[in-house]
Amino acid sequence: EIASCLVGSEMCIRDSMNCESKKYRRIVVKIGSNVLTREDGRPDTTRISALVDQLARLHRAGTEFILVSSGAVASGRSLLEPRVGRIDTVSARQLFSAVGQVKLLNRYYDLFNEYGIACGQVLTTKQDFETRRHYLNQRNSIRVMLENGVIPIVNENDTISVSELMFTDNDELSGLIASMMDAQALIILSNIDGIYNGSPSDPASAVIREICLLYTSPSPRDKRQS
Ligand code: GLU
Repeated sequence: EIASCLVGSEMCIRDSMNCESKKYRRIVVKIGSNVLTREDGRPDTTRISALVDQLARLHRAGTEFILVSSGAVASGRSLLEPRVGRIDTVSARQLFSAVGQVKLLNRYYDLFNEYGIACGQVLTTKQDFETRRHYLNQRNSIRVMLENGVIPIVNENDTISVSELMFTDNDELSGLIASMMDAQALIILSNIDGIYNGSPSDPASAVIREICLLYTSPSPRDKRQS
């Protein structure tokens, strides 16, 4: 819920213990399929439109944001599954995402358009992060959208990616986008509360509230080995 994190034009990183406010210039917001769809797999229009309302407020307040949105496969599945016969998993993913991505982007287009905000589609694959030229091309395309007030909506190009060339999920993709675009924050909207210290389905597991990265300079031995 972005709303509970919003404080005026400021965004607040909140956990159960405390709430600190920081002003961010550029953020990445990732919306997972489970947030965008109802239990029966149909798009949750009310929620999508509530999220767009909040994002439009952020945009107006001058925060640049990049949306990483899942939901292509789920949108396509809800539309096509009843009429598609036997089909293998890879083909189903390709078919559902091809149709669902159009549906998804149409919905975002209409909702952002109500605020006079334009959005643009960026479909990417893992390979686009592997070669310098593709990396720079996609960074430039997102940059030029931001510079012109257009909201980039990123998703994996599921129609052409196949298993071994796929991102683990859009969480991974959103992390890569956040780092590529020098975003100050990445907000992952999900039905999972956070990173657990075990399987989330195990009642003994708990959410890790804070993760600190420790940077140590390499020892002379490490340097010799590398
Ligand atoms: N790219 C997939 C989709 O749009 C979702 C992947 C994910 O949720 O991690 O349906």
